[in-house]
Amino acid sequence: MKSWQSPSIPDLPGRAPRVVVRDTATGSKVPAAQGDTATLYVCGITPYDATHLGHAATYVTFDLLGRVLRDSGVAVAYVQNITDIDDPLLERAARDGIDWRDLALREIDLFREDMQALAVIAPDAYLGAVESIPTFVRPIAALVARGAAYPVPADDARLTGAADYYFDVTSDPTFGSVGHYDAATMLALSAERGGDPDRPGKRGPLDPLLWRAARSGEPEWDGGSLGPGRPGWHIECACIAMDRLGIPIDVQGGGSDLIFPHHEMSASHAKVLAQEPAFARAYVHQGMVGLHGEKMSKSKGNLVLVSTLRRGGTDPMAIRLALLEHHHATDWMWTDEALELAVQRLDRWREALAAGRGPDPEPTIRQLRAALADDLDSPRALAAVDRWVCQARTGDAPGDPQAPARLHAAVDALLGVRL
Ligand code: ZN
Repeated sequence: MKSWQSPSIPDLPGRAPRVVVRDTATGSKVPAAQGDTATLYVCGITPYDATHLGHAATYVTFDLLGRVLRDSGVAVAYVQNITDIDDPLLERAARDGIDWRDLALREIDLFREDMQALAVIAPDAYLGAVESIPTFVRPIAALVARGAAYPVPADDARLTGAADYYFDVTSDPTFGSVGHYDAATMLALSAERGGDPDRPGKRGPLDPLLWRAARSGEPEWDGGSLGPGRPGWHIECACIAMDRLGIPIDVQGGGSDLIFPHHEMSASHAKVLAQEPAFARAYVHQGMVGLHGEKMSKSKGNLVLVSTLRRGGTDPMAIRLALLEHHHATDWMWTDEALELAVQRLDRWREALAAGRGPDPEPTIRQLRAALADDLDSPRALAAVDRWVCQARTGDAPGDPQAPARLHAAVDALLGVRL
């Protein structure tokens, strides 16, 4: 699928140190790249509603990771998916009386605009589930053939005798090693986040859907020996990552609400399919962005949309700065005041860089690189730029006329903030 236009990234002299990220699965900081190319897979949107600030925080976080990895001398192979067929999409389309494909296209277009406005570097491969169906069918059949997946009769299927296919989580001896949740928590999260623990006929309540047999009135695709139907969500990411990047990938990214079941299940599918002990070397999760004391979510209806802010005249770079103000691993609350403070910071930075002179930017650039290479510590990176700006505004020394341009290039390349 077409992605969006990446911003140009200035070349900087020098390099960031080796990048480390905190891995959710082990709790430790681990290298974000093993070799010359970092492989990065970030779960994309389900396009039934517009990009809210929680999404934006996730994609800006992994954009930051891509930027500092490149700056450290590592190439980045970045894949992102789009869950462009799933129950919530069909339900929203039915509610609004529009075709699910039109709804998906409309929201994907808006997502592209938002990403481009936020100066997010486009993935190298941007893949929808619908265009990737054949990529899923053979692996699901392989899981069935080796006993790791099984049919459950689907009495309401369009064809008599058709079955849905489920993954047997006990086929992965390391199941649970991404999130380390206890059984009761996994059951609760499964029920809350698209699973069906109470479905009769399953071997285990946590077993996730791999392939849903065609129902009347629902879209369907050729599933070969599985029969006509459509894929489950977790297998999509497992297969796309294996197909495009090979496993283990260096970093699996997404919001922290994807730890379970989504990332746990995708990892299990891939590990069993590839007979590999690990799906990803690091699982990196973006904290939740809330509003008025609650998690921002479609179900609660308390979304702040990037497109709404943009239409209201907010500079996308101020939105980006407001997001970078918080460390990616923390949960935080969006407020109008926080956006206003980001607007003011952007003004101060622009004013200082337009002044034509400033102190030596090299120590600041080193601090920026060190902060980002250390688990994407963006608040520390912003503070380093703030200090330079403060010195530039109050300094009595004549300063270097090249300094503002050099710092601007670093802020653009590393933070993705264009001034
Ligand atoms: Zn995913």
